[in-house]
Amino acid sequence: MWSWGKVGFLALSLPFTLAVGLKLPAQAQTAHYDLLLKGGHVIDPANNVDRAADVGISAGKIAAVAESIPASEAGKVVDVSGLYVTPGLIDIHFHVGHGGTPLNWFAPEAHSHLASPGIPADIALMAGVTTLVDAGTAGADTFLQEKMEVIDHAKVRVLALLNIVAGGMNGGLEQTVDQMDPQLCAQTIKKFPDLLVGVKTAHYWTEKPWDELHAPWAAVDRAEECGRLANVPVMFDFWPRPDRTYAELILKKMRPGDIHTHVFAQQFPILLPDGKLNPILAEASRRGVFFDVGHGQASFWFRNAVPAFKQGFIPDSMSTDLHIGNFTVLSMTEVLSKFLAMGVPLEDLIRRSTVNPAKEIHRPELGTLSVGQEADVAVLEVLHGHFGYIDNGYARMDGNVKVVARMAIRAGRILFDPSGLSMVEWEKARKQYFTAPELGNAPQAIADDYPRH
Ligand SMILES: [Zn+2]
Repeated sequence: MWSWGKVGFLALSLPFTLAVGLKLPAQAQTAHYDLLLKGGHVIDPANNVDRAADVGISAGKIAAVAESIPASEAGKVVDVSGLYVTPGLIDIHFHVGHGGTPLNWFAPEAHSHLASPGIPADIALMAGVTTLVDAGTAGADTFLQEKMEVIDHAKVRVLALLNIVAGGMNGGLEQTVDQMDPQLCAQTIKKFPDLLVGVKTAHYWTEKPWDELHAPWAAVDRAEECGRLANVPVMFDFWPRPDRTYAELILKKMRPGDIHTHVFAQQFPILLPDGKLNPILAEASRRGVFFDVGHGQASFWFRNAVPAFKQGFIPDSMSTDLHIGNFTVLSMTEVLSKFLAMGVPLEDLIRRSTVNPAKEIHRPELGTLSVGQEADVAVLEVLHGHFGYIDNGYARMDGNVKVVARMAIRAGRILFDPSGLSMVEWEKARKQYFTAPELGNAPQAIADDYPRH
């Protein structure tokens, strides 16, 4: 009976609360911030911030990062104590689903029963990612479809690398050199400079003997030519062969600013036979070549990653290569967790998930909490306990830390908050919460009322 009484009291007190709330607009006019993330630990490598601080957001932009911002100055306050507040993460290797692009190069039969096997872009929000780069799912002939079906509607910011193959990763055309037209590629990139941040080449002629239609460097050379014509970086998915070596790729073919993704895949000589780190990695880094994780379904092996890290090599950017084949076991926070468990400091991982990828795609305004920038923010938690991590060789690494995303904010809007950090306890919810909406206008009434911030 006591609990009934309490609920009754709260319900009865709601009109009173609302009446008091009527005074709020006057106060709100003096509030400096729409949203205040209070009590967290801010990691913002772009501004060398790694300390306790509050983050104020106003009109969708970062308005202040300061030691203590009074709660009274904000319309809405979210208590993020015990959590990390970072720029929204940037995942520069992702595959969004759009019509006609099955992403089934590993096992066509595994996904053929699915009508639309690509993954929704907004899944990225669940890992604190607010900007993703589709890595060449579409080419010149299919990019418009990707734009109309996915990019224009996604809540997460979607940028893209254009596949040098006009049809993108659509069926067998990736092996057709005639489909790799540097002029068409560059024209398309120049047509969509806000969305297309580079070129992608992938999966080209990995096993069969060379023939007159398939020269060893055809895909690499044509992707580079497009990159030069459009003045953008190229991301390489590559398979070395005796007359197409990894050393030649990263030391000669790639230009400074180009990106080698899948760096810890099994096919790369990251380690020499004696276990020492291959010195060509440092040499390529000095040339300005970037290395990217691109974890994926086949491209991350602890046997390369752990010894490389122990000898001081960490990829410049963290990324998932998320697609239909791996999204159930992989996420950006899972990739971060694997490196955190190896011993990479969190601040360093955030740098490699924000500032670095932003630099790689020539978008330095992204991946920061600088005042005035769009408020793309991730709230992360580091859990301590016993965790197992898997690689693509079905091997495990044990760890005692794990990164999880607790909130994702894009342009000031809270889009992901599964534990309700920004929500009221149900007993204190708004009046409408306690009544069933009238037939006919129910969904709209609820949708209009949520989220409130
Ligand atoms: Zn990929």
